Amino acid sequence: MGEYILKTENLTKVYGTTRALSRINIEVKQGEIYGLIGQNGAGKTTLLKMISGLGFPTEGAVYLFGENASTNGSLLERIGVLIEVPGLYPDLRPYDNLKLKYIAYGMNTKEYTQSILEQVGLAGVEKKKVKKLSLGMKQRLGIALALIGEPDLLLLDEPINGLDPQGIIEIRDMLLKLNKEKGVTIIISSHILEELSKIATRFGIIHEGELVEEINKEELLEKTKDRLEITTNDIERAVAVLEDNLNIHNLQVIDNNTIYVYERLEESGDINNELLKCGIKVNSLSVNRESLEEYFISLTGGRKRV
Ligand code: ATP
Repeated sequence: MGEYILKTENLTKVYGTTRALSRINIEVKQGEIYGLIGQNGAGKTTLLKMISGLGFPTEGAVYLFGENASTNGSLLERIGVLIEVPGLYPDLRPYDNLKLKYIAYGMNTKEYTQSILEQVGLAGVEKKKVKKLSLGMKQRLGIALALIGEPDLLLLDEPINGLDPQGIIEIRDMLLKLNKEKGVTIIISSHILEELSKIATRFGIIHEGELVEEINKEELLEKTKDRLEITTNDIERAVAVLEDNLNIHNLQVIDNNTIYVYERLEESGDINNELLKCGIKVNSLSVNRESLEEYFISLTGGRKRV
């Protein structure tokens, strides 16, 4: 298990009659940015809480750095957590908010606090009271708090929720920098796959407490690349013409009427002509790309918990 920083084994959480997590098995490697994606209520927060020791699983286990977390509580010291709203003191400056926490960690130096403020890009606003900061700055301060103690693993629950586009970019750049320069492994949750795709290297898709797919970035991009969509009532003959007459083999039959073709997209006119020449009626033919959100919805059925 050496290279895995985190491994969950059949992790299950039941709150009363709600099964918030059902036998979740995920693995996160050293240095990864792992995106946890799911609609509201899917179970993301619950999963992060179980990993960070803020809640106890009903069944299953969490392994951190190769050891069972329930038998070695000190492993949690190597984790930085930002779940839900960061607990900030509004009338104190960012510096003092950090100071309160670093004292608890025994890292009582001004330089250390300053360096953390710099890492999250708050060095310029250190004199402002927290209540005067923008939402994005408060989120960054929340991340700064999570960074105290030099964690090897950072757990961030929807850190970009509610931020404007500029705020999202700033958080994203900051996290990428932390990951690259300090080697911090990050698990970040969101309900927007498009956003996560700009930062994460692997994704766990959660729906109604279950892990419906684990996929890496290359596979995800492969699934959402351009394709020629052909609809016809004569699917079998159309496939035969594509394969035998046109030598197209990178194709997929989607249903009784639809074929996706992933090669020679620029020759769609010729493809259409050949099908027509062979007496196949083409109902429609267009080049499309499935968006990441469409892909996500196709996996989660577009259903939302009520
Ligand atoms: P959101 O983005 O809305 O927070 P989420 O994916 O993080 O969604 P969770 O907060 O983990 O989802 O919730 C998963 C399910 O467990 C939901 O049905 C929620 O109502 C339920 N739940 C979460 N915490 C509790 C709790 N303390 N007691 C009872 N039910 C809970």
